[in-house]
Amino acid sequence: MNSCIIIGAGMAGLSAAHELAKHSWEVTLLDKGRGVGGRMATRRIDNTRADHGAQYFSVRTPEFRQLIERLEAEGIVEAWDLEEAGIEHPRYFGTNGMSTIPKYLAKDLNIKLQERATLIESEEKGCQVTTEAGSTYSADAVILTIPAPQAAILLQDSQLPLNEAGEHAFAAIVYQPCLAVLALLKEPSKVPAPGLVKFEEGDIATVTDNQQKGIAPEQPTVTIHASPEFSLANLEGDLKQAGQKLLDQLTDWIPAENVGEYQVHRWRYSLADMRSPEPFAALNTPFPLLMGGDGFGMGNVEGAFQSGLQMARFLESSI
Ligand SMILES: Cc1cc2nc3c(=O)[nH]c(=O)nc-3n(C[C@H](O)[C@H](O)[C@H](O)COP(=O)(O)OP(=O)(O)OC[C@H]3O[C@@H](n4cnc5c(N)ncnc54)[C@H](O)[C@@H]3O)c2cc1C
Repeated sequence: MNSCIIIGAGMAGLSAAHELAKHSWEVTLLDKGRGVGGRMATRRIDNTRADHGAQYFSVRTPEFRQLIERLEAEGIVEAWDLEEAGIEHPRYFGTNGMSTIPKYLAKDLNIKLQERATLIESEEKGCQVTTEAGSTYSADAVILTIPAPQAAILLQDSQLPLNEAGEHAFAAIVYQPCLAVLALLKEPSKVPAPGLVKFEEGDIATVTDNQQKGIAPEQPTVTIHASPEFSLANLEGDLKQAGQKLLDQLTDWIPAENVGEYQVHRWRYSLADMRSPEPFAALNTPFPLLMGGDGFGMGNVEGAFQSGLQMARFLESSI
């Protein structure tokens, strides 16, 4: 039986794992986080919730459509009509928060959480991955789905050679940082329907009302994503103060007295706004090592799904 270690249990890793499992591969996913999903993230605040990473996603490609239609039928995913917010085609989100999608996809997979991969080495047959906690995992192949700047460090620490495909990918991929404010409200906000506003300029990129979206029926919450410029300027500073600056700009919709509490989350890597055009890169290592994720191909949630799928298909056809 062929085996593969997938580093990262976000959408790309989960998509690759399902495709390999379909072809009877033995798959082990390693993720440094306490849960799966990576940037498809939902935080519980008191008895309610807020999505703090991806807010919605596109469904354009046939394979992704097939998956999302199945999840829609199971009540895991819902369509969101955002025409009033200037987004023409329907977008989708997790009915009970974005993280319910990766959690659902993680069922029946062999996933080791709180396992940060720190070293990838060649073995007589295949390769071995060592984690920060000192565990080791062996397999025939490795799929890397972590953001490119983190992948670059892991490959460098592992002293694995970068071929042209790898070098091109690292040169091409650029991530934006994003500060996310999650505010628990006492009363519903006045964010206009359909509960999402995108700004073309200024300190704020988007405001999402999680109650209007439907994921916070118990108590209203809003998620504010800062613009890349504001996020970069405030990334290493006082996050709480930065969050307050953003809230102060939205008092027409969210008056100060309506804010119960707020948290600020720092995403060093949010959207890959410059990407490698191919869906993945195959490195020139003694064992198969593929590198993908949302920095490759079409990007975002759907691009991460496609990247994972294409890596799995490539492995299956080449081993
Ligand atoms: C603020 C924000 C807003 C966004 N908005 C949208 C949006 O509206 N629409 C959209 O489609 N997309 C959006 N995105 C992007 C979308 O979330 C990502 O494109 C997609 O989720 C990426 O999936 P991935 O599997 O490639 O990477 P990730 O989800 O980042 O998964 C990588 C995983 O690797 C793990 N990891 C990292 N290093 C290691 C290591 N050394 N060892 C083990 N595990 C490791 C991480 O814990 C993580 O779980 C947004 C993202 C953010 C942060």
